[in-house]
Amino acid sequence: MGTSDDHAPLTERVEQLLDGGLPLAMVAAGDPVLRQGTEPYDGQLEPALLARFVEALRVTMRAAPGVGLAAPQVGVELRIAVIEDPAPVPEEVRLTRGRVPQPFRVLVNPAYESVGDPRAAFFEGCLSVPGWQAVVVRHAEVRLTGQDEHGQALDEVFAGWPARIVQHETDHLDGVLYLDRAESRSLSSNQAVAERWAQPTPEEAARALGFELP
Ligand code: ZN
Repeated sequence: MGTSDDHAPLTERVEQLLDGGLPLAMVAAGDPVLRQGTEPYDGQLEPALLARFVEALRVTMRAAPGVGLAAPQVGVELRIAVIEDPAPVPEEVRLTRGRVPQPFRVLVNPAYESVGDPRAAFFEGCLSVPGWQAVVVRHAEVRLTGQDEHGQALDEVFAGWPARIVQHETDHLDGVLYLDRAESRSLSSNQAVAERWAQPTPEEAARALGFELP
């Protein structure tokens, strides 16, 4: 965010960011804001500004397009993320990956814990690491707690692809990128994934590229 002043108060920086128009610019890996963690949201943005910021996250996520976006990905160190997945995938993929549609949601101060031991391994990508995907082993089900954008308590179990999305976005708020958890030998360009690894599971990729699946 070349034009913003990193030392200006958070509110001013968010206002400046929003005044710059939508969609917001995406912060790419290498920017410390993706690694420094976030402040819990505790009213730092007054309600109207919070609503504008959440709307900007929604517009930016859809424009990318992506299925989730965390505040640090637009340069803001607040514990806020949005998710939404229309899940336009073939039936076989939907069933195998549990990629069911996820309506738009705002996650404020989210935290997750695993529900049971089952794990799931699939290719995923990140808007802050454009052009690449890798296999990440994640909890198959998680309990997510936090609040929504109106301060209402959130305490819900997510399964399937939505569980993957909420883990990925919550990790962003802790300064963790999916690459930190990925099978590094699975790293594949988007083109390679489209041409070779579009199967519902990454089993063929594991054999061909030489990585283990759980
Ligand atoms: Zn990401």
